[in-house]
Amino acid sequence: MIDPDAIYEQLTISLERLLVSKIPPDAAPHHQHYQEQWNAAVAHARSMLGARGESLASDLFELRLRVAMHLSPIDAIGYDATNPTPRHTLITDYLRAEFGRSDEGVPRLARDIASVLDRWDASRKRTSETADVLLRRQAGRCAHCGFVFDSWRSSRTDDVMKPYHESPEEFTSPEVDHIEAISGFGTNETRNLQVLCRLCNAGKGDGLGLDVRREAKRAADRIAEIPVADRVRMFYYVLERAERRCAKTGRDSTQCELTMRLVRPRGGFLRTNLQPEALDVAESTDLVKHTRLLHHPETRSSDGA
Ligand SMILES: [Zn+2]
Repeated sequence: MIDPDAIYEQLTISLERLLVSKIPPDAAPHHQHYQEQWNAAVAHARSMLGARGESLASDLFELRLRVAMHLSPIDAIGYDATNPTPRHTLITDYLRAEFGRSDEGVPRLARDIASVLDRWDASRKRTSETADVLLRRQAGRCAHCGFVFDSWRSSRTDDVMKPYHESPEEFTSPEVDHIEAISGFGTNETRNLQVLCRLCNAGKGDGLGLDVRREAKRAADRIAEIPVADRVRMFYYVLERAERRCAKTGRDSTQCELTMRLVRPRGGFLRTNLQPEALDVAESTDLVKHTRLLHHPETRSSDGA
C-alpha cells in the first residue's frame, strides 16, 4: 500500500532537486553533483509518473499532474491537437532548454509526462458525460440550493430572493462545477465535481465572496431592484455559511429546495439579516412587496409578475 504522505514528501524532494539542479549561468553543467541530483530527481519523477495503483488513483493522478505540469512548457500544457510537433517533443525541448539536460532519460521522461497530460485532456472532455452520473448521485438536485432540475415550469420561480425569473431557462440549467477550481489545482476527478444550477454557479463566481461596500450601498434598496449579480452572490454566500440548511426546519439541500429570507423583515438586505429557508415553508415572495412597502409606499409589483 502506498503511503500518500510519503509520496508528497518524495514529490517535494523531487521538485526541489529539479529546481536546485537547474544550472546557474556561472556553474559547470557537467559538475558531478548536479548530475547526481538530476539522476535522482528523474528517477523519483519517473517512478511517480509511471506508478500504478488504482486504489489511490485520484491522489496519484493529482501528484503526477503537478509534476507533469511543472516540467512542461505552456504550449504542451495547453496543447493544441493541430500542432504538428508532438507533445512529448515540446516537453523534451523544454527539459533540455530550461533544465539544461541532454541525457538519455529525457525523451523517456517527456513521453511519460505527455501521457499524463493526455489523460488530463481526456478527463476534461469526459466532464459533460460525467454530468449525468453526478446528477444521479445528487438525486437530480442542485448540490447547493437543492433545486430539482427540469422542474422549473412547475415550481415557483418568481422569488426575488432567488431570481430564477430573471432568466428561467438559463438560471435553472445544470452546470458541472469544480468544487476546487482547476486554477487552484482542482482536478476533473468526479469527487471534485458537482452539478449546480446556473444561478448558484453564478453566485459562487470567482469564490472571492461578497464586497462589503456593494452590500452596504444596496442594503436599503428594494430587493427586485438590486442587481441580479449581487442577489445571486448573496444567495450563494448565505446558503454556504449555513451549510445549505433551512433555518426553520433544519432540512438541508439534499432534502428540500432552499431559498433565503430576511430574518427581520424591516431590516436591510444584509448578509447578517438573511437566512436560508426551505421553499415550502418560506413566506410567500409577496413578502417582498409588503415588507418593502414599509420603506417605499409606491412599491410596484416585482419583476416577472
Ligand atoms: Zn442551485
